[in-house]
Amino acid sequence: MNVPLINLPFKNRYLELGDGFYEKCKPLAVADPVLIKFNEELAGELGLSADDHDEQHLAEVFSGNVIHDTSEPLAMVYAGHQFGHFNPQLGDGRAIYLGELDRVDGASLDIQLKGSGRTRYSRGGDGRSALGPVLREYLLSEAMHQLHVPTTRALAAVLTGEQVVREQMVAGAVMTRVASSFIRIGSFQYFAMKNDVQSIKALADYVIDRNYPDMVDAANPYIAMFESVVLRQADLIAQWMQLGFIHGVMNTDNMSVAGETIDYGPCAFMDFFDHNQVYSSIDQNGRYAYSAQPGIGLWNLSRLAESLLPLFDDDSDKGVELAQEILEKYITRYSGAWLTGFRAKCGLRSIADVNPEEDQALLAALLDAMADNQADFTLTFYHLSQLDAKTNEKDMALRELFAKPEAIDAWLLRWRQRLSRESTNDDERQASMQSINPVYIPRNHQVEAAIRAAEDHNDFSVFHVLYDVLQKPYERQQGKDDYMMPPKPDEVVQATFCGT
Ligand code: AMP
Ligand code: MG
Repeated sequence: MNVPLINLPFKNRYLELGDGFYEKCKPLAVADPVLIKFNEELAGELGLSADDHDEQHLAEVFSGNVIHDTSEPLAMVYAGHQFGHFNPQLGDGRAIYLGELDRVDGASLDIQLKGSGRTRYSRGGDGRSALGPVLREYLLSEAMHQLHVPTTRALAAVLTGEQVVREQMVAGAVMTRVASSFIRIGSFQYFAMKNDVQSIKALADYVIDRNYPDMVDAANPYIAMFESVVLRQADLIAQWMQLGFIHGVMNTDNMSVAGETIDYGPCAFMDFFDHNQVYSSIDQNGRYAYSAQPGIGLWNLSRLAESLLPLFDDDSDKGVELAQEILEKYITRYSGAWLTGFRAKCGLRSIADVNPEEDQALLAALLDAMADNQADFTLTFYHLSQLDAKTNEKDMALRELFAKPEAIDAWLLRWRQRLSRESTNDDERQASMQSINPVYIPRNHQVEAAIRAAEDHNDFSVFHVLYDVLQKPYERQQGKDDYMMPPKPDEVVQATFCGT
């Protein structure tokens, strides 16, 4: 179709890998696309000049009805361990890759439509997305970005004007996702399963070129790339833990090699703290529970190591040894990032005369007290960020979060003793704590309310207000205290669902 197009100068480097890596396929046009939201800020980073275009045009483009002539759409193939069981062939079943766009700062980002119709990899699925999961991913991924967590992002959400069949008929939507890479651990597993070393190498070269260009000159670029992936994943999961984020479906096909949070399905931010919290309705055994996440990260990276082994060394024993050395670094890196992060959340600096184990124990004691007292994760750290080192005058709001306030009193004594060993002033410490302990996170019940209003009443205002609040998560906003609050008993969301 020849329409004056929003400027989308796609590059298609993935295409050059060859047809073993994808199926070329076009999005299936939708009946009546209506723009829900367009991310102007992200569009600006991509140098997209959307100003000259009306909403209808954006809706046509970001529903897949209009395909830019520089795009050669395709669905990527991958495999993956789903809940520990290997599935030799998955792939983009409801997503279509449009290509790569350069950011104004030089790096490039991949653009994908999600919910854009069936592909060779759809199996029994309809290739479509329901509105609810699209709004959910839009809110959560953009909140994560504002919380400084590496993540795929949301460029646009469009109503299709069509219904999709889920438990009942619901409105359909298409989400435009942006990522540093859509290559997953499962992408490597797909070729490893076929013993196709040439393709493993081609894919690794592509990933290095795209995401780890500095590694090209390493003695063995594949080992260097693997190490970088491992370290990024350790840092990422430490960040999730520090925000009470539960991904919910950490299958190897949902783990990006670029170290970004990807595939927002049944994920959720915790309200009341529980080490073993699970929200996902399909995670019966808690495989992906909050506290299981760091271990699962390592398990997934071990699957990546197995897939990359032929590139590590001709001698497979030597390759295994190299892989193990790097996997051990995951544990050190994760523990370090956990400690640094939680210290910072509590306003503690790393100082010479406090050994890490001592702080580790202090921080673990806080989490245990929170768990024993159903304290809200986000509010605990928010209120802690307001406290003075020498007086307990402002402690009340924090105490009120704990079923037994004595539990936090005891901990605060220890915390104040610890603070007395370093030389921060209250203002400085509070400012730094407030810059990393959010006031607002996308709370499940708020996200649910936004979805209900949109799905049940075609009212998107709840979604837009919530989105705006989450744009400035560290700033207390006037009239928005409701968004800070955990759910009332009748608002608690017990389970979250896959986007399927
Ligand atoms: P997920 O666990 O949500 O990442 O999805 C697992 C696999 O199922 C992926 O290969 C998806 O592409 C595929 N899938 C999920 N939902 C659908 C759908 N509605 N239609 C086709 N494929 C789907
Ligand atoms: Mg997935």
